[in-house]
Amino acid sequence: MERPSALSTSAILLSLLITLIVVLALYFQQVKQAQHDARQRLENHVQRLTDSLDLHFSQINLQLQKGGSLPELCSASGQSFRAAVLARPEIIGLQVVDRYGYLHCENQHRFQNPPHTGKPAARHNLRFAGPQLLNGYDGPQFTLARTRLDGSAIRVVLHPGWLRNQLRQLTSSLGFVALVNSDTGVPLMRVGSYSLPVQSPVFPLDSPYRLETLFDNQRQQFLSAQPLLTQPQLSIVISEESVLLDQPMDLVFPFWLGGSIAGFALTLMLVLRAKRWLNNPGRELRTAMRQHQFYNLYQPLVRSEDFSLAGVEVLMRWDHPEGTRSPDTFIPIAEQTGLIREMTVQQLQRITMELSSILIAQHSFRVSVNICPPIINDPATVEKIIAFKSRIPGLILEITENQMLEECEVTARSLQRFREAGISIAIDDFGTGYCGLAYLSQLPLHILKADRSFVAALGTDAVNADLLETIQQLAKKLDLMTVAEGVEEAEQAIRLQELGVELQQGWYHGRPMNSEKLYSRWLDSQQQQQNDLILEAVYG
Ligand code: C2E
Ligand code: CA
Ligand code: CA
Repeated sequence: MERPSALSTSAILLSLLITLIVVLALYFQQVKQAQHDARQRLENHVQRLTDSLDLHFSQINLQLQKGGSLPELCSASGQSFRAAVLARPEIIGLQVVDRYGYLHCENQHRFQNPPHTGKPAARHNLRFAGPQLLNGYDGPQFTLARTRLDGSAIRVVLHPGWLRNQLRQLTSSLGFVALVNSDTGVPLMRVGSYSLPVQSPVFPLDSPYRLETLFDNQRQQFLSAQPLLTQPQLSIVISEESVLLDQPMDLVFPFWLGGSIAGFALTLMLVLRAKRWLNNPGRELRTAMRQHQFYNLYQPLVRSEDFSLAGVEVLMRWDHPEGTRSPDTFIPIAEQTGLIREMTVQQLQRITMELSSILIAQHSFRVSVNICPPIINDPATVEKIIAFKSRIPGLILEITENQMLEECEVTARSLQRFREAGISIAIDDFGTGYCGLAYLSQLPLHILKADRSFVAALGTDAVNADLLETIQQLAKKLDLMTVAEGVEEAEQAIRLQELGVELQQGWYHGRPMNSEKLYSRWLDSQQQQQNDLILEAVYG
């Protein structure tokens, strides 16, 4: 992670925005899920309730098939059967009626003179009836009856409290639950205030059904209904107001707060990484290289004796989309990332293309190229550079004094390779580093390029005013050529002439320029040299 001071406001704002969007998206997704789940829960309630009633009804149906013939049922031998039926919590009464409708026994009581109650239906399946008033019972009752093979029937009276409890146990949080007639929708028993959709008819109902619409109580409600399997003429209907189902539930605040903070931290980390990746100088340089945004400028190197053009120092520029960049801003990064190797090879290729006519016409034309440790320490690049010698015969490689000191052994080997290939080596910014004389004399060098601070000090009373003279003497002793750079004034140029410095470079002689300008400058100097030759021939 970057240090807090380095966290940019834009990264924080972007992370906040991303976190906000993600948290909101997750929140709404969660709310939608919760609303869907609430409706699903309602449907599960209906399913559970119908399952439960179906289970009870089918058990009763099974039980009512037992017990033998009517005489057995109402005799002492049927007593245990009757007791077993009456022991069921959902049953409060049991009646045995003969095929003509006479009630022979009720619960454990046997009638001597059976009263007439109503002829049993001929169908042999289990039948639900009610609400109806029955003799000996308070209030309307619900019954289940089954006609037996001999035409007699057993009828059981359902416990109204049991049936109501069945509906109630699921209704604590619901609008209403009702047991209804599947054909008409008339509620037979209900908990809560019953209402139905204004427009969409739900009944008759023969399969599970759900809908959400405006009800006749003027509220938007969700409804789920399902017929019983054992008694399809009965259905369970559950409904709840939509607003109550849509209220976000169980969205725990601390969870969201913690999640948001963690999400923000993670996003910030990712944004910073992405930013670092996008701002990665190496990546930018690589793109620039691919898009050929680097180009060469050429600064004249002139002979001290007549200021004629002897060659150039090649200087790199970056045609950055936001404006030209000076080498000080990108060369150090190119060195760190090692991209300088490829960049230098490309620079040499540009030289061969841009200066081809000069290089062909004047083999001695000096072309000074800056190199650095990542190049010298890489034998492959060393060989690539050497390969240019045939096309750039006057190739000179400049390396600063301090860089020369790094990794001496490899440096010495590479310098040796250059020397074998006939390429000259110049020590750049000489006098600012710490190369000992003894060390210098061992290296295969050709040129000392005095730092421009010594030229600037010429003719002043600065402490280093005379150092250039000393450098010049040293160079003579070591049999090296000297170049003075940073020549900005005529006086400096003359003084360097007097000192015997062979080559000069600086704004006075020419600023770094493109190849076209250099070419016309070179043509001028060729013309001048020819004129001089003619004059010399004519006047001696
Ligand atoms: P350097 O090798 O010492 O290059 C000379 C620098 O001095 C150049 O700056 C040049 O424009 C500037 N200069 C030339 N004449 C005068 C003058 O009369 N007065 C003043 N004040 N300055 C003058 P530039 O082009 O900005 O290059 C800066 C440094 O960047 C170079 O210093 C060199 O170390 C590095 N560099 C430039 N191009 C390349 C390259 O292609 N490869 C490598 N490895 N380094 C490069
Ligand atoms: Ca240089
Ligand atoms: Ca220099």
